[in-house]
Amino acid sequence: MTAQHPSDVQDVLKSRKDAFLIPEGIIYLDGNSLGVLPRHVPARLNEVVTQEWGASLITAWNTHGWIDLPARTGDRIGKLMGAPAGTCIACDSTSVNVFKVLSAALSLRPDRKVILSDTGNFPTDLYVASGLKDLLARRYELKVVAPEEVRAAITADVAVLMLTQVDYRTGRLHDMEDLTRTAHAAGALAIWDLAHSAGALPVDLAGAKADFAVGCGYKYLNGGPGAPAFLYVSPEHLDKVTSPLTGWMGHEAPFAFDLDYRPVSGIGRMTVGTPAVLSLSGLYAALDLFEDVDMADIRRKSISLSELFIAEVEARCPRLELASPRNPQTRGSQVSFRFKEGYAVMQALIARGVIGDFRAPDVMRFGFTPLYLSHQDIIDAVAILADILDTQSWDRPEFKTRAKVT
Ligand SMILES: *Cc1c(COP(=O)(O)O)cnc(C)c1O
Repeated sequence: MTAQHPSDVQDVLKSRKDAFLIPEGIIYLDGNSLGVLPRHVPARLNEVVTQEWGASLITAWNTHGWIDLPARTGDRIGKLMGAPAGTCIACDSTSVNVFKVLSAALSLRPDRKVILSDTGNFPTDLYVASGLKDLLARRYELKVVAPEEVRAAITADVAVLMLTQVDYRTGRLHDMEDLTRTAHAAGALAIWDLAHSAGALPVDLAGAKADFAVGCGYKYLNGGPGAPAFLYVSPEHLDKVTSPLTGWMGHEAPFAFDLDYRPVSGIGRMTVGTPAVLSLSGLYAALDLFEDVDMADIRRKSISLSELFIAEVEARCPRLELASPRNPQTRGSQVSFRFKEGYAVMQALIARGVIGDFRAPDVMRFGFTPLYLSHQDIIDAVAILADILDTQSWDRPEFKTRAKVT
């Protein structure tokens, strides 16, 4: 392919694409679900396995700093989100971290009863909140309202406002600063799930005065399948919070082997058990690619790519209906279109090398990752999408069989 879109000539992030291993002939519009493998990560993982684990064995916990990987990795992620050093840590999964921060937040507001969330939240967050509510003998009420009704639902009985900043289906973006301020004015705390924000758009946790945040390492941060998640606690709460999962890695002195639990001071108290060294090493190395990147440049390009995508799809695929906000300022780094046979169309697209994904009942989802996508990729992807729709080549039985993961 020799065509080049004019916007790619000026692109300050253009050279970054070479740092990723993108298979020949693939246009990857799913970095919001699983990021691409950075080129340097396999060699680094091989080194960790053969030299650190293989040669240094258990001494590597000290000699190769394995024990500090959650904190070091957390600080690297925190830097992308306006989190001061020592307030963000990489550990566990996002689901587990939601459990920990929600429990911690509720303990800071013992007189209140309501956990407030919205229907745009990712289901696992709501499932965890519901499970925690049951575990706490149903002393709490989980109230779930429509995204546009959140602000008005922040009343004086709310203990914790728990939201995902970017809606996983539509890309709709909540105003984190405004809603956090509203929560605080009502005496509530705010938890933000930044799974679709970290590495995708500028986030200012300290500036927004967020109380807690969590998010995934394997989406825009490119940490690899099942990479550890992150967890942030505001400095104001750090030494007051308690984790409901009081494991030895959160202990003040794990190797004193005391029989009583005493939480270590700082963010380390939110960790539980032995860190996943291999996956943390992959995530840590993948974060090299964000070291000298300005998140404002990422945001500018993300908007440029998604605006181009919407314009092209609306011009060439009139049967698809935009499911995302039209104003880019109220949208994350993804765009979704509705189509009744969206599942089959997505399978047909994937068969032609354009990878996006599908969310029930009819949402075709496309993620834009400025570090490894060009404007020309967008033009080429939409040309294939238009051809699939024009020729109805999606209308085949093999594209309609649902796989386990969509
Ligand atoms: C992807 C995603 C998760 C996934 O959580 P895991 O525990 O990693 O499976 C949670 N919350 C949001 C908002 C997500 O987008």
